[in-house]
Amino acid sequence: MFDSILVKPDQMYSLANVDADGDGVIGLEKEEAKKAFEKLNKKLESLQELMYAEGKRKLLVVLQGMDTSGKDSTIRQVFEHVNPQGVKVASFKVPTPQEMAHDYLWRIHQRTPGSGEIVIFNRSHYEDVLVVRVHNLVPEERWQKRFEHIREFEKMLTDEGTTILKFYLHIDKDEQKKRLQERLDTPEKHWKFNIGDLKERAIWDQYQKAYEEALARTSRPWAPWYVIPSNRKWVRNYYIASILVDTLEGFKMKFPPAEEGLDSVVIE
Ligand code: AMP
Ligand code: MG
Repeated sequence: MFDSILVKPDQMYSLANVDADGDGVIGLEKEEAKKAFEKLNKKLESLQELMYAEGKRKLLVVLQGMDTSGKDSTIRQVFEHVNPQGVKVASFKVPTPQEMAHDYLWRIHQRTPGSGEIVIFNRSHYEDVLVVRVHNLVPEERWQKRFEHIREFEKMLTDEGTTILKFYLHIDKDEQKKRLQERLDTPEKHWKFNIGDLKERAIWDQYQKAYEEALARTSRPWAPWYVIPSNRKWVRNYYIASILVDTLEGFKMKFPPAEEGLDSVVIE
């Protein structure tokens, strides 16, 4: 079902040709998809509780996308009901001086999930082959090597028991315009409007090219990239929740066994 949005290893394709509306591929009407999403949300709640109780699995969810692509709202809406004890969000901004003084994976590795945890990366180590690349923050011969580092790093994490899912929230340039305009027109959204985002928008094509290469070169069976059509929130939410539930169900988790003698306990 998700094959159509899965990036195949090293298969470069043009994001401009990928429909960011996605209503053709999803095969559900808006109301159906919203209902299905509500159900998936409930399932996610109990699966996450089970994961936390079992305390064995580790799940890393990477969210990437252009400005306004909906990374924050995905976190709010898809993870609405989960228990904050077992779910953490790690947001990666412009590196601090201390972070800058280390290799680019240093700050990332510290935030990866422990046993029983789900960690959501709001931006990630991929910024180091995206913004860093389009703004020439390090020379090309340095960022070129990072695709291999990243593949190996993610392989190591999965070999050591982490499951990795990576979602690229795909919006088109018109949709970004609408969303930026809405932020500009709504006082309550001004805090989200960064004038700097307009500079990034001006080099949209360079970003798309950087994404195309990053996705192709780092999508692997153990750490796949999914291109999530994200012009419409209900399409985006439905896809992400479906993939998460599918993955967690695949874990075949069990509550830990009860302590011995529990059946004869009497509470006075
Ligand atoms: P936001 O996600 O809107 O809070 O913005 C965070 C900003 O930090 C974005 O403009 C990112 O491109 C930027 N950023 C994140 N990681 C890096 C990095 N490794 N190097 C440079 N800029 C980064
Ligand atoms: Mg921003």
